[in-house]
Amino acid sequence: MILPPSSENISRAADALRRGECVGMPTETVYGLAGDGMNPVAVARIFDIKKRPSFDPLILHVASAYDLSGIVKSVPETAQKLMQRFWPGPLTLILPRNTSVPELVTAGLDTVAVRCPDHPVAQDLLRHFGGPLAAPSANPFGRLSPTLAEAVEDELGGKIAMTLDGGACRVGVESTIVDCRGAGVNVLRLGAVSLEELERTAGPVQVIKNNTLVAPGMLENHYAPRTNLYLCESLEAGPLPPGAAGLAFSGGPANRQRKVLSSAGDLREAATFLFAFLRDLDRCGATLILAERVPELGLGRAINDRLKKASTGTASWGAAGWVLSQK
Ligand code: AMP
Ligand code: MG
Repeated sequence: MILPPSSENISRAADALRRGECVGMPTETVYGLAGDGMNPVAVARIFDIKKRPSFDPLILHVASAYDLSGIVKSVPETAQKLMQRFWPGPLTLILPRNTSVPELVTAGLDTVAVRCPDHPVAQDLLRHFGGPLAAPSANPFGRLSPTLAEAVEDELGGKIAMTLDGGACRVGVESTIVDCRGAGVNVLRLGAVSLEELERTAGPVQVIKNNTLVAPGMLENHYAPRTNLYLCESLEAGPLPPGAAGLAFSGGPANRQRKVLSSAGDLREAATFLFAFLRDLDRCGATLILAERVPELGLGRAINDRLKKASTGTASWGAAGWVLSQK
């Protein structure tokens, strides 16, 4: 059930959360599957609905940094700086966990991931509910993240109390995850806050690769459509193979089988459309999807990361046409 975010519906959603039910919640990144982050039964329900493995810890969402006191032990200086600059907003921080946080949330780790979303509906819901909400992306594990209320209901309707309609997500890719408990600033997941933005506030950062134990969002296959997707350098290299769909960054025609992320070549705009276009192409009856890498800077890094994880291999154009190779 998709409901407009009126104050009455926000109260209904908060009541459902208090009963341990789950609610589709818009955030600026993607739609979340929200549940009471301090109620193990509600948290277990999130894992069950998503079919998410229990070793993959959840992010707790708070209305403001003041609400961290009950869930983290301490906030290192660099984390404070980052929170001042980026909260509310799409930055997740890994902090020492307070023992009051259910083990299931953190998958037994001694840290907890926290974020303060800036979407007005998420903020309203958090304030009405009055506690932290666990809210992983509202999609079955490993699939495309939803950036529209309709996408949440398509996949999870019937299993959740309601989805609050906050319109299309402003950013469109997941939050950046940062661990700055030690000496340096480690980026565990590329996301909505670019490395360039982080470095302007925190100095040089390090991107941690393949650390699946710390952040399973970095699993090699994730965010995937059902149709096989192949990554290529340029869609302009040759015509699409018969029956194939195409995802271009900025050039060429746009139609049902061929989507263009941003004709202006704007990476922010491209991020906004990424998951929605992949979802459309997944449904257009194509035998495969060819997707073009975007420039590797700013939000482009997060987009390329998602495309790589959604891919089953790469495609290159040669004398014999497109050659596909498996990952
Ligand atoms: P999602 O909410 O689906 O976007 O995924 C949350 C991501 O945060 C997953 O990749 C988790 O592994 C990661 N995460 C959550 N808690 C922690 C933690 N304590 N340490 C490291 N990564 C975490
Ligand atoms: Mg997810």
